[in-house]
Amino acid sequence: MRLRNIPGSREMIAENNWCIQEPEQQKGHWHEVFGNDHPIYIEIGMGKGQFLTTLAKQNPDINYVGIEKYSSVLLRGLQKLEEEPLENVRFIRMDAETICDVFAENEVSKIYLNFSDPWPKDRHAKRRLTSRQFFARYDKILKPEGVVEFKTDNVDLFDFSLEEVKEANWNLDAFTRDLHHDDTMNQGNVMTEYEERFSSMGNPIHKLIASR
Ligand code: SAM
Repeated sequence: MRLRNIPGSREMIAENNWCIQEPEQQKGHWHEVFGNDHPIYIEIGMGKGQFLTTLAKQNPDINYVGIEKYSSVLLRGLQKLEEEPLENVRFIRMDAETICDVFAENEVSKIYLNFSDPWPKDRHAKRRLTSRQFFARYDKILKPEGVVEFKTDNVDLFDFSLEEVKEANWNLDAFTRDLHHDDTMNQGNVMTEYEERFSSMGNPIHKLIASR
């Protein structure tokens, strides 16, 4: 999601209390940020944050951390939190490549990846958030029973992701190529901004759940 660059967005984010400014300093101490021992779920590439904040309202006993690379996108999420504060949500502006500097071993209970950038060129495969390189990072920060949940409408990226789950020696717990018509997997589904947009165009939504 690339919005028009909003001048001053970096500065606005730097002053915002919902956004963790030096996330590396919280590594191993995220429970102190939230002031409780609730499980921590993260979304990488949260965009404007609709998915994460909807879940946070439904589940006050879970802490949610949204990660987004671009200030201009993250700013929209922060503005919404200002209007409707949620104590169990924090955001980080960062590239997820360095996620292991921000969360300690076993600190995260679930990782959501929604409509991740496809990086279609082969030479960029390792930048895809479902590449084996990223699964190796998730392996470090996820609790042993933790899961990765991934949704997309991009068939090539989904096929690639199924292969990478195998290559990374993870287990494929469940998958569907038409989430909205899969009664079991669609139960409790919370739509993301991209999911609303692409499913309204008739694109089937693919989803997989992976664990170790
Ligand atoms: N998840 C949202 C949704 O489903 O509506 C947004 C999807 S958008 C296509 C992908 C988002 O992931 C973009 O906002 C992009 O900036 C962010 N992103 C991509 N790679 C990232 C990375 N390595 N670290 C953090 N954010 C990333």
